[in-house]
Amino acid sequence: MTLIIDQFPCRSDNFGVLIHDTESGLTAAIDAPEFDPIKHRLAERGWKLDQILVTHHHLDHVEGILPLKQAYGCTVIGPAGEADKIPGLDRTVKEGDVLSFGAYEIRVLDTPGHTLGHISYYIPAAKAAFVADTLFSLGCGRVIEGTMPMMWGSLEKLLALPDDTTVYVGHEYTQANARFALTIDPSNPDLVARSGEVDALRAGNKSTLPTTIGLEKRTNPFLRVDSPAVRERLGMPAASAADVFGEIRTRKDNF
Ligand code: ZN
Ligand code: FE
Repeated sequence: MTLIIDQFPCRSDNFGVLIHDTESGLTAAIDAPEFDPIKHRLAERGWKLDQILVTHHHLDHVEGILPLKQAYGCTVIGPAGEADKIPGLDRTVKEGDVLSFGAYEIRVLDTPGHTLGHISYYIPAAKAAFVADTLFSLGCGRVIEGTMPMMWGSLEKLLALPDDTTVYVGHEYTQANARFALTIDPSNPDLVARSGEVDALRAGNKSTLPTTIGLEKRTNPFLRVDSPAVRERLGMPAASAADVFGEIRTRKDNF
C-alpha cells in the first residue's frame, strides 16, 4: 500500500496538504486553508476529496471547509474541543480516537496550547504526523489560548514519536524562526547548518518543509530545553523543562 502526501503553498504562508491512498482511492485534506489551491491540486492529481481533517479553529485553517464541502460532498472531521467554532463538522475526534483511511490508521493526538482544542493527526504506517500550528520547523505555535506547561506537554507528545517521522506543519515560518533560534542556541552546529540550508532554499523560493522529528530534536530550541548550552544561555540551569520552554516562547513573542 502507498500513501501519497502532497504539500503545497496556500494563502501567504500556510500549507495545504492532501493525502491519497492509492489502494482505496481515498483522498483527505489536512485543514482547509483556502479553496482554490486545494481544488486546483485535486484536479491536477485527478483526485476527488473524501475527507477534511481539521486541526483547529483558526480562520487560516478552516476558511476553505464550506466551499470544499459544497464542491465535493466530503466528510469534515475535527477536534471535539472546538466543535462550536468550526463550520461544517460532521464528526468530532479527540485523543485516542483512531480513524481508518483505507488500510491506514490515523491516530488523533490532543495537542492543546496554540488553541485549547488543537489536535494533530499521526499515521504510524506512513511515518507521518500533521501537527499544524503546534510545532513549526525551528519553532512552535504561539501559545494563544492555552498555558506554557500545556503547550510543552503537547510538544513532549510529538517528541515521543519516532525520529524518522515526517512532520507536516501549518506554516512556512522556518527562516524567521532560524534567526531567533540562533539567539538561543548559537553554538549548535546542526542549527547553524540547517539555518544556512534554509536560507538557500528560501533564496530559491523553495519550501523548507516537511521536516522530521529527528531534525527538530537536533535543531529546534523549543525542543532543546534539556540542552545544558541552552539552559546556560538562559541562566536556567535547574528550572523545569516547562519553565525553560516558557522562557524561550516568551522571548520569541518579544523578538
Ligand atoms: Zn493557528
Ligand atoms: Fe495557522
